[in-house]
Amino acid sequence: MDIEEFRKAGYQAIDRICDYYASFQDRPVVSQVQPGYLVDALPSDPPEDAEDFNEIADDFQKLILPGITNWQHPNFFAYFPTAGSFEGILGDLYASSVSNPGFNWLSSPACTELEQVVMDWCAKLLGLGDHFLNKNGVGGGVIQTTASEAAIVVCAAARARYVREHPDAKLEDLVIYTTTQTHSLGVKAGLVLGLAVRALEVTPEDEFSLRGETLRLALAEDLAQGKRPFITIGTVGTTSSGAVDNLEEIGEVLKERPSIWLHVDAAWAGVAMACPEYRAFGKLEPINRYATSYGTNFHKWGLVNFDASMLWVRNRRDLTDALDVTPEFLRTKQHDSGLVIDYRNWHLGLGRRFRSLKVWFVLRRYGVEGFRTHIREGIALNEYLVSLIRASPSFELVTTPSLALSVFRLVLPASPALASGEDALTAHNELNRAFHRRVEGASDKIFLTQTVLNGTFCIRFAVGAQRTRREHIDQAWEVIRSNASTVTEEWVK
Ligand code: PLP
Repeated sequence: MDIEEFRKAGYQAIDRICDYYASFQDRPVVSQVQPGYLVDALPSDPPEDAEDFNEIADDFQKLILPGITNWQHPNFFAYFPTAGSFEGILGDLYASSVSNPGFNWLSSPACTELEQVVMDWCAKLLGLGDHFLNKNGVGGGVIQTTASEAAIVVCAAARARYVREHPDAKLEDLVIYTTTQTHSLGVKAGLVLGLAVRALEVTPEDEFSLRGETLRLALAEDLAQGKRPFITIGTVGTTSSGAVDNLEEIGEVLKERPSIWLHVDAAWAGVAMACPEYRAFGKLEPINRYATSYGTNFHKWGLVNFDASMLWVRNRRDLTDALDVTPEFLRTKQHDSGLVIDYRNWHLGLGRRFRSLKVWFVLRRYGVEGFRTHIREGIALNEYLVSLIRASPSFELVTTPSLALSVFRLVLPASPALASGEDALTAHNELNRAFHRRVEGASDKIFLTQTVLNGTFCIRFAVGAQRTRREHIDQAWEVIRSNASTVTEEWVK
């Protein structure tokens, strides 16, 4: 493709992307294709001869788009949102245009320095303490691919730090602490690093928040058995219910054990701290006081297209001591001088995408106030949904709504045979599973995902897509309400 062909194809691509965004009302939220649809439609060998680009671009429309679940659709309420933006898309496009792996300062100074700057901007946007800023030269921020990868990075760093401080420690005794509500990233980090993971119990009475006493008891038990807990992963905004661990209490317990690293995973909820009124909820103060590292995904609720997972550490040396491998072919005089950051030593791979560009575009274009407005709108829409749930005798909230997430279930119709106990819970769960299956049948209209909390099957409703408005909550509620009536009627028969 030459420059003029690219110009034409590029204009066409932007036109088609605009048409895609303008046509969400005619598109299903969840892809409606069947397994194997694409594998069957495509040739099993690559083409021998070059193909015309128009045909390739047409095939994106014809073959690929039907197999896309539309995460940017305003009626997408599953998992957590990936609230992308046009600014983010353009950032990605420009980043792709200079396609380079920016692994050290010299390989593209702008990639490194822009990342340093936007990570400080994001830290300030969220109210993080100065010790997390790149500018201070001790701590710092780096963009990872995902929160799961960030967890592997911090576990590797925490392990290296612990073993340096305790040379007698055996790897088989090391333990990663999570809770029963921690995202799968804790177990994944344990799997990758070959380390044990202990999930501490959290209870519905504490709204699934880890308490200091639980941690204290676990530590006493494990230490007495010669185990070496070396990192605790706390969460602000758990995946199932948006729970927030009690970081004040956790911090107080860990204060007595400085060699245990505290990582706080706020993959979804962290961006809400852009709004000062949610900083207490998001435990900003104990994070600033106690956390060794902190992460949040701007690619979830933060208007930046996937992927952009922000990680800050109190001490950058903890990362580089664990991850710096510098063969001769990677040495540069700037690195040797110590004057620059080489981000290759702050993450797992060598090459890295130029992610800071899209973050820069988004933050400049929205401004702090625009970013806050987006967050506040998501929370206000969730409050509206909560008012509908509360006003309906057919539904109940299972946990206290958290920011833009609600967890609810269908009320079990009264039946003397199922007054209480396990039978009632089993029946209640079956009813709600049937309800969720029915809502799945309407996946062209809305997308909701389920979870189980303390044995209770429930439905999650997560707001946050950039185009969701009150009318979309009304549409979703209509689907929920009508399917609930049908399921309940069938159940009563
Ligand atoms: N942590 C929490 C609390 C999450 O909810 C999620 C995903 O929803 C993750 C981590 C994983 O994020 P990633 O896909 O960036 O690894």
